[in-house]
Parts: sequence; C-alpha cells; structure tokens
Amino acid sequence: MKLTKHHLTLKLREPFTIARGSITHQKSLVVQLEHDGISGFGEVTENPYYGHTIASMEESLSKIEPLLEEYISQPPEDLWQQFRERLDGDLFALSAFDMAAHDYFARTKQLPTWKRWGLTWENVPVSSYTIGIDSIPKMIEKLNQQQGWGIYKIKLGTDRDLEIMKALRQETDAVFRVDANCGWGPQETVDNSMLLKDLGVEYIEQPLPADASVTDQEFVFENSALPVIADESCQVEEDVRRCEGRFHGINVKICKCGGLTPALSMLKSAREIGLKTMVGCMIESSIGISGAAQLLPLLDYADLDGSCLIESDPAVGVSVSQGVVNLVDGNGSGGGLKSKPQLSAS
Ligand SMILES: [Mg+2]
Repeated sequence: MKLTKHHLTLKLREPFTIARGSITHQKSLVVQLEHDGISGFGEVTENPYYGHTIASMEESLSKIEPLLEEYISQPPEDLWQQFRERLDGDLFALSAFDMAAHDYFARTKQLPTWKRWGLTWENVPVSSYTIGIDSIPKMIEKLNQQQGWGIYKIKLGTDRDLEIMKALRQETDAVFRVDANCGWGPQETVDNSMLLKDLGVEYIEQPLPADASVTDQEFVFENSALPVIADESCQVEEDVRRCEGRFHGINVKICKCGGLTPALSMLKSAREIGLKTMVGCMIESSIGISGAAQLLPLLDYADLDGSCLIESDPAVGVSVSQGVVNLVDGNGSGGGLKSKPQLSAS
C-alpha cells in the first residue's frame, strides 16, 4: 500500500475570526492511501492552537509507513488502537490516516462508508453556516451573502455579543446557534442564555474555558436557559462520559479525537447517555467534509460548512448547499483531489 501526502493551502473567501484570533489561509494535509488501483482520502488541517503543524503531522505519519500493509485487508477500526500507540498519540495525524483508511476500505467492499458502518441514511440533519467574529456591519454582510441557509452558527466571545445577535436577528428568521469558543464566564453564560433564547438561539457551544471547574460547568448546566454543547471540553473518547450532567450535548471534531473510528464510538456513547450529538469541521476541503458527512445519520446537529468558507476547493466530494448535504454516488466517502498539487510520496 502506498501513502501519499498532499499539501493544500486553502485561501479563505473572507478572513475568519474567532475568540482566539484571525486567519486568511488554512494549510491542510491530505493523506491518500492507494493499493491495486483503489484510493482512499483523508484530510487534517494545521492547527497551531493544538500544536499541530504540517511538518509535525508528516513526521508522525512516517512512523506508521512500515505497517501500512495491514490496512490492505483489515478494517481500520481493528487497527486504530495499535496505530494510536505507534503515533505516540498524535491524534491529528492519525485522524487523516484513519479517514483515508475508512474511505479505502469501504471502496474495497464496494459500499459507501456510512453503509459499511451499518447506518441508515434518513432524517439526517442539515448543516449550519458559520459567521466568524467581525464588525457588526461586516457580520450582517456575511450573513446576507449566504442567504437561504436555515441555520447560522455565530461565533461570539466579544464585548458586544448581544449587540451582534440583536443586529443579526433583524436580518433573518433562520435558526441561530452560538459558539463562544471558551469566551464566557459562568454567570455571563446563564445571563446570556436567557437573552439569546428570546433571540431564537437554539444552543450555546462551549461557553466556558476548557479547563473550567466542574462546579462552574454544573452551574451552567443547571441554570442555562439553552442547551450547552461541549466542544473544547470534549475532545477524545474518554471525555464523553465526563460530559454527562455538565453538558447537554457534544460536538465531535474528527481531527481532535483521532479519526472516524473514535468519532463513531463517541457519538454512539453520547446517544446512549442521552447527550445530543454534533459533528463540527475545520475550514477544510471537500475531502475532510466527505469523511465527516458519513457520520450524519448519528447526528442531531451538523456543522459541515468548512469547504463553503474557502475560495476555491481543490477537492471534489460531498457538497453542502445552503445546508443540505449532497452525497456522492458511489463507494467510500466520495472525496478526492481535482488535480495533483504539491506532494511528497513515500
Ligand atoms: Mg466550536
């Protein structure tokens, strides 16, 4: 089996700002696994906040190349733990590899990835469209440039959060979701929740810092007028159980948990204990979105607009149009590169 690493630089349509900072370009690493004429693709984006660069992830991936042959015939879920250890816990690198392996393996079985997992494609949620932090006129402009979506996710964590929401509410009757990216305190969250509920907000994502105390999390859980969804507080499989009684749901990010294998089991565990389920994306190409979209039958909420935020998608695959996720006919997850950009084969 051959592993090829493709480097992508994704130019954003608009600079994107959240509570932690602003970017205009996103670097991304695409993993291609190929054997006997069949290719599987996976993607992970560089993330300085979590300490993962393209170079560090490439170095990690080089550690598993001697073991690639095992993936020719074995399902990725059977090998995941072994590869996690081999990668010294570099879950970002593993996530791209595991996504590619699921795509490859489903293609060899001549099934769409979701079908190989035994899921049924019905009543899947539509995706939200994310509006990053900006001046209020600019946020209104971004909203109006993307009319027709039924749900918008608004990034907050500023000193004018309620003004932003009031201004945006005047522009649309769509559902709003709010992501504070760790930007609020406990009482602030509870106060905001009451006001945001009246503004048609459906839930609040990660109001408190990831290292907030259990007492603060429980205070918010018990007093918030809106459901609270964990993102930064729920990154890996072991975090799911800790969210019970502290959050109403979890937002699973494939890159943070280490791929589709753990994402699947996190979503199933969350549903078992009554938590709402969500999958979010990074700003990424259609390859990453195609992988994530396979999880839709297990979701209450979806945030898969990543490829809609880039100027020119170098990949093909699952598309998201005003929130509706359109699968690709055929096997695997459906993602692939339009042409061959800069790459390093090994
Ligand atoms: Mg979030």
